[in-house]
Amino acid sequence: MADSKHIVLRHLDIGKPIIKLKDYEKRAGGYDGFKKAVKMEKSAVIDEVKASGLRGRGGAGFPAGVKWSFIPQNEPIKYVTVNADESETGTFKDRLIMEQNPHQLIEGALTCAYAIGAKAVYIYLRGEFWDVAHMLDERIEEARKAGYIGENILGSGFSCEVYTHLGAGAYICGEESALLNSLEGKLGQPRVRPPFPAQKGGGLYGEATVVNNVETLANVPWIMVNGADEYKKIGTEQSAGTKLYCVSGNIQKPGVYELPFDTTFRELLETVCGGPPEGRSFKALLPSGGSGPIVPLTDEVLDTRMSYEDCAAIDTIIGSASLIVMDDSVNIAWVASKVIKFFAHESCGKCTPCREGTYWLDKVLDRIMAGQATAKDIERIDDVAKNMAGITLCALGDFAANPIIHTIKHFKEDFLAMAEGKELAQAGD
Ligand code: SF4
Repeated sequence: MADSKHIVLRHLDIGKPIIKLKDYEKRAGGYDGFKKAVKMEKSAVIDEVKASGLRGRGGAGFPAGVKWSFIPQNEPIKYVTVNADESETGTFKDRLIMEQNPHQLIEGALTCAYAIGAKAVYIYLRGEFWDVAHMLDERIEEARKAGYIGENILGSGFSCEVYTHLGAGAYICGEESALLNSLEGKLGQPRVRPPFPAQKGGGLYGEATVVNNVETLANVPWIMVNGADEYKKIGTEQSAGTKLYCVSGNIQKPGVYELPFDTTFRELLETVCGGPPEGRSFKALLPSGGSGPIVPLTDEVLDTRMSYEDCAAIDTIIGSASLIVMDDSVNIAWVASKVIKFFAHESCGKCTPCREGTYWLDKVLDRIMAGQATAKDIERIDDVAKNMAGITLCALGDFAANPIIHTIKHFKEDFLAMAEGKELAQAGD
């Protein structure tokens, strides 16, 4: 099995959460990376993050340093926004960082703010994380008192404030432009792009803005201390570092595990998590929550590395790495119906293919689940989903199409059994 290394969940090596600033400084080298960064040229900090190969951990996997480099340095007002919405189904990793190692996120966000020349960081949390926001406010206050936040930080001439902001719990506000709208007090709906958030006119209050996920920024302090070359030694060629994998569903030991990207699904699901429940066998996996393509848990998939490039090669994505495991007791049509109900509820309604498509997919799937459908209905939802994919304003349209297209591709017999009433809906449905 790949060597286990904690970069983000460093408190696990210490044996307890690192909440207070003095613990973070004393036990985990807290703020050493930031102290180093503010003595460097801003462009050198961006180059270091670029060279590390750090990719965004929110789902898209876009290189973080490249995103930072898009910010025009000559603009007087710029912002950093931390995406702590954590709304993807099966994802529960960012909360863990914020609850158990919060200063590492604050340090990473401040380093990003220094590199792009931003004077404010906004941490946008989903509404249900009100308790996490309260705790983060206390940690921000600690950092301010220690001179890491405020005016002329560490005598560098750099000044920056950090704020938390609570959303109202809408899935779509995890999409960066909807997040920015919500942060501005507007309806949380995606914006038409370009301009992109990193461009003048596209970011927060119309100013150039970096939007990065919690886990992405929490990697930055380690990179600043240890260097890009050390970081690149972990993981794979195109997926450097470690990833927080959230494992849930039919598995013996669910939880959040930080592992290098070159770990295989088998190493995580069988060796670390103990395999499926007693007497059961693996059937299928959603590697990226409800939004990514489902895969049958075959030997080929189990022996695949959980990296961006390896997952693409088996026709799925690692995304935010929310692994929802299904064993042989699960009818996959039932899974598709649950995922579509979620997306039909969360569609913001701004564009027609997503608004109408998710509504009709949900309606027809209800008929399939009631055993009152025919094979023609299965073809119909496959057709609707294929006509939604790739033509919506934001990625939610694709996310909603994926569970239909890929579940029918791999598990059509489950739909037929359900449609013809040969199989009853799951208990508790
Ligand atoms: Fe809204 Fe769906 Fe269109 Fe995205 S794809 S803008 S969620 S209606």
